Amino acid sequence: MTRTVRVRFAPSPTGELHVGGARTALFNWLFARKHQGVFILRFEDTDIERNRPELIEPILESLRWLGLLWDEGPYFQSQRFSIYHEWADRLLNEGKAYKCYCTPEELEQKRQRALAAKQKPLYDGRCRHLSSQDEERFVREGRQPALRLKIPESGTIIVNDAIRGRVEFDLAELDDFIILRSDGRPTYNFAVVVDDITMGITHVIRADEHLNNTPKQMLLYQAFGHPLPIFAHVPMVLAKDRSKLSKRHGATAVLEFRDRGVLPEALVNYLARLGWSHGDQEIFSREELIENFSLDAVHPSAAIFDEEKLLWLNQHYLKASDPKRLGELLRPFLVKLGILSEAEARAVPSEKLVQMVMIFRERAKTLAELAEPARYLLTDDFPYEPGAVQKFLTEERAVLLRGLAEALAAVEPFTVTEIERATRAYLDSQGKALKEIAQPCRVALTGRTTGAGLFETMELIGRERVIARLRRAGAH
Ligand code: GLU
Repeated sequence: MTRTVRVRFAPSPTGELHVGGARTALFNWLFARKHQGVFILRFEDTDIERNRPELIEPILESLRWLGLLWDEGPYFQSQRFSIYHEWADRLLNEGKAYKCYCTPEELEQKRQRALAAKQKPLYDGRCRHLSSQDEERFVREGRQPALRLKIPESGTIIVNDAIRGRVEFDLAELDDFIILRSDGRPTYNFAVVVDDITMGITHVIRADEHLNNTPKQMLLYQAFGHPLPIFAHVPMVLAKDRSKLSKRHGATAVLEFRDRGVLPEALVNYLARLGWSHGDQEIFSREELIENFSLDAVHPSAAIFDEEKLLWLNQHYLKASDPKRLGELLRPFLVKLGILSEAEARAVPSEKLVQMVMIFRERAKTLAELAEPARYLLTDDFPYEPGAVQKFLTEERAVLLRGLAEALAAVEPFTVTEIERATRAYLDSQGKALKEIAQPCRVALTGRTTGAGLFETMELIGRERVIARLRRAGAH
């Protein structure tokens, strides 16, 4: 019988969830779903100086929004210290770890000396061979020991990475590293391994930057006599200029994309294709991702974050999604864009939002763009494009528009068909063609020279507002 796949996503709450981290979470989640496995969430919050507990909730919210729900956890390393101590004691009792009494000052001195001699500052193993007299003296002095792992003095460690392939590390480059600090806090590598063992993790899928930690972690597995998990290090996500993706490149946090009106399925689809491929297919449903995902198809080189492509996918999903759902998703944007108050946004009839979606989604790349026309559809407080009034609302046309206002006053019901019929009849009576008033009419009604179909727009704006705006035409 094969073992159940158990994977984990292990963010440190030191920053928001960014696209790189979200992709790591997604790959873990997809792998778990594909193999009917378990996806575990664990917060690595032992770094008290850098932790920001207020980020836990936004990270959870990011994962929920992306639909990457965890089956177990969230676990918090800060609540697991007794487990780390128990496992550290085991190594100590078996002679695989030892107490180190070196003070931070002593260690710093040695470090400086090594650096001055252009050597890698590795621990010299002094306390590995401490005489009992020295040890007693240190205890008497009240020194609190740290715990170090005894590692083999020479040899190589080979990581067989599921994405990177074979990577060799020379043990001469490593030292007896600390597993428990003198204040009792576990080090990063130790806590990760104890957690991965006790949580039964079968595949460690994580960011590339941790590859250098893997040999240390493998030494810990060896010391515990525990079989290794499969390691898979996911390459970095870089900006277009191949530098590290950061704020200066624009939005990078998951919730920023949400707030700009990206759909979760678009971001998931985009992130999945960021370094993973399946032929040249670009659009994947969640089910297709699960079915086709495999670690072998993750590219070992860095992936480049391309916002345009994300927006292209978003546009695709805006066109393909249920208009009712999109309509509801517009409500918060009406508030965020300063178009309506919260109460007003709640009161907009669903059908109106659905109509907006239907007539504007061909042109919108984000929900925010899709919500923007609401300014002139649902309120009277909208800007006029610079120059458009002078150019299109000449007196002659304004007269025509004012006449159209009267012709539309009696239209019942105020729907596309009836509006169009009445408009054409009025234009015929004036001996004018639609194209003579189409642009002026649009400018008078929306302040803009582009938009959706004129009659659809009129229906959405509603009779009263249409008539009022046409009557005012030219008086701007
Ligand atoms: N806590 C680490 C990070 O946020 C992840 C460690 C791991 O996955 O092993 O980068």
